[in-house]
Amino acid sequence: MKYVDEYRDPNQCEQLVDTIQRTASRVWTIMEVCGGQTHGLLRHGIDQALEKKVHLIHGPGCPVCVTPLESIDFAIELAERPDIMLTSFGDMLRVPGSRTSLLRARAAGAQVRIVYSPLDAVQMAVTNRDRQVVFFAVGFETTAPATALAVQQANRLALRNFSLLAAHVRVLPVMEMLAASDSNLVQGFLAAGHVCTVTGSNCYEAFANRHQIPVVVTGFEPVDLLLGILECVRQLERGEARVRNCYPRSVHAAGNLQAMAAIDDVFEPCDRPWRGIGIVPLGGFRLRTQWARFDASERFPRTVQPARESPDCRAGDVLMGRIKPTECDCFGTTCTPENPLGAPMVSAEGACAAYYRFKSQGTRSGVDLHGIWKQ
Ligand code: SF4
Repeated sequence: MKYVDEYRDPNQCEQLVDTIQRTASRVWTIMEVCGGQTHGLLRHGIDQALEKKVHLIHGPGCPVCVTPLESIDFAIELAERPDIMLTSFGDMLRVPGSRTSLLRARAAGAQVRIVYSPLDAVQMAVTNRDRQVVFFAVGFETTAPATALAVQQANRLALRNFSLLAAHVRVLPVMEMLAASDSNLVQGFLAAGHVCTVTGSNCYEAFANRHQIPVVVTGFEPVDLLLGILECVRQLERGEARVRNCYPRSVHAAGNLQAMAAIDDVFEPCDRPWRGIGIVPLGGFRLRTQWARFDASERFPRTVQPARESPDCRAGDVLMGRIKPTECDCFGTTCTPENPLGAPMVSAEGACAAYYRFKSQGTRSGVDLHGIWKQ
């Protein structure tokens, strides 16, 4: 398949692993920001293939994982109201709130619908005029443009029964938080390719310069991941701190201007609590004042109380790269994908789920360079 097979070529992967190992004169610590990249690295055994020269730290780029407990509890409260139909992406349904999940609430009779696009939620509002349709909007800059378009569409249709529970997050502010931390170990970042498809790569220039840290825009296939790591290692060996785009088939320096314009029209940056991490300054998007009539938290009174995370779940440490998921006592015992204690065990982009799938099942007992890249 074009644009896939050539980025899974086993011979190219072996050459890249070899080049990285010969280029690195010491062990470098690199963070892949996005959970999709974490899954790619583990699925293809890249972490093991490079472990003698590259220490990979898994970053906070899993939007489902960082959605605050209070937002999930509020979404469940809304879904349980007889006059509201709550819509969201499928991943959100299994994430535990403080007392239940949207999936369990749906099994108990709450009106919860999975959608594949925010525009599907707008369409549900068109066909269900007797109900309030709330879209629980999560995700990074990748999904925010589609949410913005949904709000604009609802406005064009003069819908009074559509609103957003907006929990979109922004990736650069959390990278700032990580890089500025006294305990930061990260020496180079693999920036999330799909986020950069929207934002472009230029937005990282000031960050790389200020923190003197390389930022390499990286995709998700094994060749993409290895090219990103190689560029990062080369810069670190030369003492450079530049922004480089190793995902040019998807990312342009200026990004997608139309998508950014849609975000800018509907949303403005705001401080936002990230689950397990705390308040990230300017780490989220909220609706601008002129779109406030589409804000579900304005439209419906919120009665949920601030909730406490399970004290056993170390999601914050995992999301900030302080521990590997396997260092959490609950991993694979009281916390599994079937019975998750924290969001990183639920999401398709969660690091704990990736470790459970690729590390704890005995599927990666050794590194077989010819077998790995084909999966
Ligand atoms: S393994 Fe489960 S309990 Fe432990 S940090 Fe991950 S999600 Fe939380």
